Amino acid sequence: MESVLSLADDIRSLYDPRDIDAVALSSDILLVRTDGPEGKDAGFAHIEYVRRPATIESLARPGEWLRVWGARKKIAVRSIAINRNAGIPEAEIFWHEYYHLFFSPRGIQHGEHFVHHYSTEGALHFREERRADEFAAAVLVPSLAGCETIADIMEQHNVSERLAKVAARIYGAES
Ligand SMILES: [Zn+2]
Repeated sequence: MESVLSLADDIRSLYDPRDIDAVALSSDILLVRTDGPEGKDAGFAHIEYVRRPATIESLARPGEWLRVWGARKKIAVRSIAINRNAGIPEAEIFWHEYYHLFFSPRGIQHGEHFVHHYSTEGALHFREERRADEFAAAVLVPSLAGCETIADIMEQHNVSERLAKVAARIYGAES
């Protein structure tokens, strides 16, 4: 739990977590909004590693980049798609997927290909799904100050009931 909370602190010191377009831009994430089916499918994340020719800066002409023949480097291309019709705040979907793209250990950092679907029906028995929700809750709900009920959390921080409950649990567990 502590690591999710400290990751969230780091995120909040770097970004305004409500401005997901700006976060996507500075994190090199392609953010796409789609008009998908109502409810159910909230979004998905995708990461693919592509190989690009490697380049080095010219010693003779600084600022000019030379291609290194035969050498290629691996580049991660990350994207998040948000279904505008999911009935869940966009930032909530975004941060859940962000967690998977950057912090989910299972296969993602090493795999050539990763696709994740975020469903409101949620397979929350999976550990990484729980952690992705905890991360999103910690990023969007910095503390429970001024909140006495789940409804207060939903209203003050603009999160779904599901995430408000996660927030109540993670901060409750801390004390
Ligand atoms: Zn997930």
